[in-house]
Amino acid sequence: MSNLANNLVATATRSPAAVAIKLDDVEVTFGALEVLSQKVATLLAGHGVQRGDRVALIMPNIPQMAFVYYGILRAGAVVVPLNPLLKGREVAYHLTDSGAWLVFAWEGIIAEAQSGAEASGTERGDEVTVVTVDSGAFMQSVSAAEPTPGVVDLDGEDTAVVLYTSGTTGRPKGATLSHTNLSRNTEISRDLMGTAEGEVLFGGLPFFHIFGQTCALNAAVLTGATVTLLPRFEPGKALEIIARDRVTVFEGVPTMYIAMLRHPAVQDTDLSSVRVAVSGGSALPVEVLHEFERVFKADLLEGYGLSETSPIVSFNRVGALRKPGSIGTPVEGVEVRIIDPDGAELPQGEVGEIAVRGHCVMKGYWENPDATSAAIPDGWFRTGDLARVDEDGLLFIVDRKKDVILRGGYNVYPREIEEVLYEHPAVAEAAVIGVPDPLHGEEIVAVIGLKAGYAPADDAAKEALAAEVVEFAKERVAAYKYPRRVVLVDALPKGPTGKILKREISV
Ligand code: AMP
Repeated sequence: MSNLANNLVATATRSPAAVAIKLDDVEVTFGALEVLSQKVATLLAGHGVQRGDRVALIMPNIPQMAFVYYGILRAGAVVVPLNPLLKGREVAYHLTDSGAWLVFAWEGIIAEAQSGAEASGTERGDEVTVVTVDSGAFMQSVSAAEPTPGVVDLDGEDTAVVLYTSGTTGRPKGATLSHTNLSRNTEISRDLMGTAEGEVLFGGLPFFHIFGQTCALNAAVLTGATVTLLPRFEPGKALEIIARDRVTVFEGVPTMYIAMLRHPAVQDTDLSSVRVAVSGGSALPVEVLHEFERVFKADLLEGYGLSETSPIVSFNRVGALRKPGSIGTPVEGVEVRIIDPDGAELPQGEVGEIAVRGHCVMKGYWENPDATSAAIPDGWFRTGDLARVDEDGLLFIVDRKKDVILRGGYNVYPREIEEVLYEHPAVAEAAVIGVPDPLHGEEIVAVIGLKAGYAPADDAAKEALAAEVVEFAKERVAAYKYPRRVVLVDALPKGPTGKILKREISV
């Protein structure tokens, strides 16, 4: 009997009155979540949705996301979660590629969802239906629907979610994740964080992304913990929620930690409830790790993963050997190899691409056999990330393969330079990129956002500070590695999970 939705049935049976989802003063218990998802299953049947059909969800973290998601799964259909910041033409691309002809969308994106739906071409050739989930009409139709109590029994290998990701190259591709992929990862997330009923998880990572989906939404449903939602991350509000709801497990990406630590309210906020925090999605600067542990007096565990690996590949664990900057060791049932471009395993200590095998690896890219066999040519999934293993077996990410800068014949790993820049007192966030250069092929440029209180008064001060940061880096790294130019910006461009988007930086 396999279906991720069985976790909801079990938790709702065991603890119907426990709060599953909280959005400010709205609370949804597990009992209510179960019934709401049963009613959604009835509505889906009314739309003609059958086992294996794809249904798109376009919304931020609101309670509807949880019960529509579980309603789709229990009906044996496939969830296609999309980012609510997408524009109409992007929505059209995702609907066409996934073949979804039913869309549950949030009011805030309804115009884009509609125009996307009209422009999409689905295999059924008929119109795409868009349902507005935060409308009175939808909530009325949910409450009027008879619940469909059963859960469609599936094979563990059946697809649960198609999650679009840009991966390392090209147009977004649908990482196709099975019920087993997600169930196993959810259990691993629970074990790593020690999540149990009574815990409160911070729900500021979007559920349309794999990190928030597995480690917050699905982990809470498995364990009976509460997720407190923050639909749009804002550091002041995040701190408020931590204190208000006594958050015990904080999950975030590095930019969230940076923003909270920089926020003036951090000094006066009661952070004592936080037992453990986890970071993933991009490299956690060592400076930020230390500052967090000092201010929050809680462990901050860094993990590593991708959409294609549901997501967890490796993690640091409480009580285990930990080294700042390391992404820990592979989690149970997951094997990691460091390989050369031919796929051969490299000796310990050498830098190569991370390849992954195990229960976490996706089935493939949705209806894209070429991309699938390029990514998983021999049973090992190629992550596109470069790493090395140290003498204690701990993994260290060196950088993304495609972000490596080739300057005058040398490989420069931006992450190493970014770590140095984060040590400068004025630097709040940093991205090091390569720009075309006639002499060296590529030249190194650092783009930095400043901490509050460091804003230069005029252009001369700005130039002086940029020059000072160049000097600071120059003193600390080899001559071929330091940034020749430092550009000061108000903020770096970030993706929906707060990941710094290097591709969108133009200098
Ligand atoms: P996504 O599929 O959007 O989750 O992105 C996955 C990518 O995020 C990986 O291929 C890595 O490049 C990056 N990533 C995730 N976790 C970490 C980490 N702890 N350190 C460095 N990069 C990371």
